[in-house]
Amino acid sequence: MTSREAPKRKSPLEERLIDMIKLKGPISIADYMADALGHPHDGYYNSGASIGADGDFITAPEISQIFGELIGAWLVEAWREIGSPKSFNLIELGPGRGVLMADILRAAQLRRGFVDAANIWLVETSGRLRHEQQKRLRAAEPDVQWADTLDDAPPGPSLIVANEFFDCLPIRQFQKTQVGWRERLIGLTSDEQSLAFTLDKTPPPPNLPLPDPLGIADGKIFEISEATRTFIADLCARLSESPARALIIDYGHRRAGLGDTLQSVRNHAFWPPLEAPGSADLTAHVDFEAIARIAIEAGAAVDGPVPQGEFLNRLGLALRVQTLSRGKSPSEREDIEGGAHRIAGPAQMGEIFKVLCVSSSGLPSPAGFG
Ligand code: SAH
Repeated sequence: MTSREAPKRKSPLEERLIDMIKLKGPISIADYMADALGHPHDGYYNSGASIGADGDFITAPEISQIFGELIGAWLVEAWREIGSPKSFNLIELGPGRGVLMADILRAAQLRRGFVDAANIWLVETSGRLRHEQQKRLRAAEPDVQWADTLDDAPPGPSLIVANEFFDCLPIRQFQKTQVGWRERLIGLTSDEQSLAFTLDKTPPPPNLPLPDPLGIADGKIFEISEATRTFIADLCARLSESPARALIIDYGHRRAGLGDTLQSVRNHAFWPPLEAPGSADLTAHVDFEAIARIAIEAGAAVDGPVPQGEFLNRLGLALRVQTLSRGKSPSEREDIEGGAHRIAGPAQMGEIFKVLCVSSSGLPSPAGFG
């Protein structure tokens, strides 16, 4: 991806944030992300969010229907593994345009028992995207319900799927300085006309899980997502009460490390993260090590993370490509194969995207993890 030139005009959210910072001082990156993505009126997901080939960014279910179909087959298997309950919650976190759920339900039609037992819950905060999900899923299944948070879905056996959800949960950044860790904040340029990164003058509270600064070079950045920690803790509470399994798919790192992964994307190109907030997507890499550690501490079982390509291949990607290509024209076959390559090829999404499964303890091993 290339970088685009920043716009001259400020977004409404940028103007408001500048005024607020003038008044109250710098804000954390987490507060900035929460506003830039989730502000009820001017946040990206409520105003401009546009997912897909014609939008700002594209996700695996938007590239190939095989992604959702294989996950649908995985979920049917997982339903059996949690004891084939007659009624269970099928929960998707951050369903975007509803493509993944539509593909899951189509693939799962072969197992009527699964579809009849599923109470579908979509956890989505954006009114705009809820509307798109409603339009797409109306035909597939009438009984879809929406929730603002995972806790709003009723307790009971659950299967949860999240694709590119955790990358948009807010992170805080800390920078190593000569005097130890200091939080990286968002303040203003000297002319007070634009947003700019700055450092907190006081040290962070000692209870934050920051690495020992000794031996870490000045300028290095460490990221923490408190929102993710809280979310995983809530998810594990559900897993401890009833048999349940969650599949988390996202781009990120297997081991917690140093580095600035805050990234903004607009119209399929990188975008300066502090320019025109609300008009571009804003994400950070998911720290799978942190998620796994929190889940294990909470008594849940963890499988993975494994690279997305490996996971999809184990679930039968090649066979699905073959079946789908049967009787198709050469150009249609090329599209099917090209899509499969994009979601699973190591140089494409196959390696940087990872899959992690978090389960209630005592369940059989999930498919796809080797
Ligand atoms: N899973 C989809 C879309 C990913 S975009 C796909 O693969 O195509 C991220 C999605 O998460 C959007 O639907 C966005 O509105 C939603 N979202 C972001 N933050 C959220 C939050 N805190 N709670 C609920 N949904 C959120």
